Amino acid sequence: MNAPRPKHAPLTQFEVVDDTLVVGGVPLPRLAARVGSTPFYAYDRARLTERVALLRRHLPPEIHLHYAMKANPMPAVVQHMATLVDGLDVASGGELQVALDTVMPPERISFAGPGKSDHDLRCAIAAGIVLNLEGFGELERAAAIGRELGITPKVAVRVNPDFELKSSGMKMGGGPKQFGIDAERVPEALRRIGELKLDFEGFHIFSGSQNLKAAALHEAHDKTFALARRLAQDAPGPVLTLNIGGGLGIPYFPGEERLDLEAVGAHLRAILPEARRDLPQAQVVMELGRYLVAEAGIYVCRVVERKESRGQVFLVTDGGLHHHLAASGNFGQVIRKNYPVAIGHRVAGGERETVSVVGPLCTPLDLLADGMELGRAQEGDLVVVFQSGAYGLTASPGGFLSHPAAREVLV
Ligand SMILES: *Cc1c(COP(=O)(O)O)cnc(C)c1O
Repeated sequence: MNAPRPKHAPLTQFEVVDDTLVVGGVPLPRLAARVGSTPFYAYDRARLTERVALLRRHLPPEIHLHYAMKANPMPAVVQHMATLVDGLDVASGGELQVALDTVMPPERISFAGPGKSDHDLRCAIAAGIVLNLEGFGELERAAAIGRELGITPKVAVRVNPDFELKSSGMKMGGGPKQFGIDAERVPEALRRIGELKLDFEGFHIFSGSQNLKAAALHEAHDKTFALARRLAQDAPGPVLTLNIGGGLGIPYFPGEERLDLEAVGAHLRAILPEARRDLPQAQVVMELGRYLVAEAGIYVCRVVERKESRGQVFLVTDGGLHHHLAASGNFGQVIRKNYPVAIGHRVAGGERETVSVVGPLCTPLDLLADGMELGRAQEGDLVVVFQSGAYGLTASPGGFLSHPAAREVLV
């Protein structure tokens, strides 16, 4: 019998030899032995490099690419990304420390995130990175800390735009938001930045995340540039940086179509000349998390017990929602769909059966695959969850039920 083709496009992105998954040139069982225990996350270095190259091919060359670290803050991953991208975006004081350990010059590191503590602000100003200001209180506190340290803070204004990024998985702007300063109040913030004589860097306008629709991104890009041009009229100095956010999505579920990156690039190429005319000194930055790292990562766990309950097969593994909340369906808050999953040494062929892959937690929500057709698996076999390089381990409730932490490896 011919091996059926993998049903899910993302599966084909990893090399498969003799129906066994190969990660970073290493067959999965050997990688598992090398890591020493399951569960673990593995990130493929070459795939990260390729992804940045893909973006460079399709986006206008004058656009700088920043890596939004919160998608995957593993220090080894950040070190690798720092050699490929033009800047890093951090969202906490902890991420800042990891970013400062890389080759990235501080002036190419920016810090966004509501509720920055005085401690965060002090570290950031002392390091000489760019603060994306999220509110008026933060503006005043940053100025005071700058005076105390004898350093002029470099600041950009994070704008809560007066529009939304349509069809995005998560809206980060538009309407009332805890992020950024409402566009209509930005002139007031700019005036204050001028009075306090802070170094004005520019604007950060991030409207949404996980978007697969090029047309929605085109519209958001048009509106972002228009808004920046409008706001620049009240700026205390030239706009040196215009961070247009990111929002590029990746396919997770059957039927989702890959984002047309070529179209996104073509549209940006078409609108950049106008932006350049009005904002001649602005370096345009796109900051991406998920799009850069998600498809380069897998989560691997091991079947501890194979059991049947009333005709249904359950593969009970040592991994689950405590390491990979997103693949479980985020604690039952959304309509659950299966991430692409495979058995490590029976990726596409062999005997197939419909099973549910569950974890060891005492909740029916601890589910990695629900009624999915996989290669037949036994106790000891490895289960792989694809599309797991972003918002995985650090975005999961690791303390829930006190099981061991998952390891991470960059191959
Ligand atoms: C989370 C975040 C990103 C990254 O979003 P992705 O959807 O992972 O690309 C970028 N910028 C800011 C400010 C963020 O908070």
